[in-house]
Amino acid sequence: MVKLRFMGGTHKVGGNAVQVISDEANLLLEYGVKPGTPPEFPGHIRAKDLDAIVVGHAHLDHSGGVPLFYLSEKKPYFATRTTSELMKILIKDMIKLNSYYLPFEYLELDKMQKYRNDIVYGQKVKVKDMEFSLLDAGHIPGSAMVDIKVGDKKLLYTSDFNTIQTRICRGAKVPRRKYDAVIIESTYAMHEHPERKQLEEEFVKEIKSTVNDGGKVLVPAFAVGRSHEMISVLHAHKFKGYMLLDGMARAVNQAMLDVPDSVKTPKTYAQAMAGVHIIRGWRDRRQIVKKADVIVAPSGMLQGGTVMFYMEKLAQNANNSVYIVSFQVPGTNGAKLLETGMFPIKDRETRVNAKVKHFDFSSHSGRTPLQKFLRGLKGKPDVYVIHGEEESCDFLAEWVRDELDLKGVAPNQEEEFTF
Ligand SMILES: [Zn+2]
Ligand SMILES: [Zn+2]
Repeated sequence: MVKLRFMGGTHKVGGNAVQVISDEANLLLEYGVKPGTPPEFPGHIRAKDLDAIVVGHAHLDHSGGVPLFYLSEKKPYFATRTTSELMKILIKDMIKLNSYYLPFEYLELDKMQKYRNDIVYGQKVKVKDMEFSLLDAGHIPGSAMVDIKVGDKKLLYTSDFNTIQTRICRGAKVPRRKYDAVIIESTYAMHEHPERKQLEEEFVKEIKSTVNDGGKVLVPAFAVGRSHEMISVLHAHKFKGYMLLDGMARAVNQAMLDVPDSVKTPKTYAQAMAGVHIIRGWRDRRQIVKKADVIVAPSGMLQGGTVMFYMEKLAQNANNSVYIVSFQVPGTNGAKLLETGMFPIKDRETRVNAKVKHFDFSSHSGRTPLQKFLRGLKGKPDVYVIHGEEESCDFLAEWVRDELDLKGVAPNQEEEFTF
């Protein structure tokens, strides 16, 4: 018998954590945070009760709490090399911004490096009576699903995934194995994304039109993956303008160049990045902004980061454009800009004259691909739905019950199930 304990990311996006307990082993699948002040952690678990931790990908809602397990104990954690490199960058940044609210420091992040185990997709790892391996999740560079076997019981943990291929990720495949249980994300269980190819074409067309008319384009984008994908899209469409990359996306780019199998086509990626000016510091930033055509800079929701500087420089000129390429959480500067056309510049709400438009790029499967993925699974697995807003989790669990005639559950925090 295998027991699942849902410790976080239930009926919400943020702080994923699921404990998998067998007769002999105790495995923790991710331990994220829900960003905020203070950041929220999943349910408590003692490090000494664990055998190992597996992290699907580097986003903080999946990895941000892992340093907690290095305060006194030393447990091994497993992830792809790319994920571990990106975790270093993201967690370091979180400590820098939030150290006052966090129960750990840089010291724990350093210690964690000694107990990291870099594994490749498909590599089998044994932990007592459990065996697991990682599968490409197609979500961001390095992202993985976790395939777990305990005796004759099989479990799939999808973490965040995308079955649609992008310029830098391969796209997740439906695993062939028969599962007894599946834990799936549901971020976009109620939302269809537009067709990728068309979306890319529209995005490039808009950029070319602004640049040809003498304007500049600011693309606020997430630091992990989205920034790099946008540059790769422009490269693929033979865009010849002057591009620059700034903010934390620079360190992420370096990690992706250092670990070439992070991306789908490493050579093409390196070529795309070779044509981009990587900002070196404030002097460089102030000078280069004058000649840049396209500026890609985090944060994606305009909540801070170097994008704030570029907004100040570019937002009031009607020749320019601001193209938002990420989901905007309600209440963020990005969401408010799309709704009202206003933005805080030097602490004053200011009317933005630049053209503002949203492009629905996503690194999660939308409604139809999520359903197709579940339909494609073999066996008669129990399906546990997490990592979505309350109604998304409930919606997908109900769909599983009605359409697939399987056990579909959207668990609550601290609920336990066996299979
Ligand atoms: Zn993610
Ligand atoms: Zn997530």
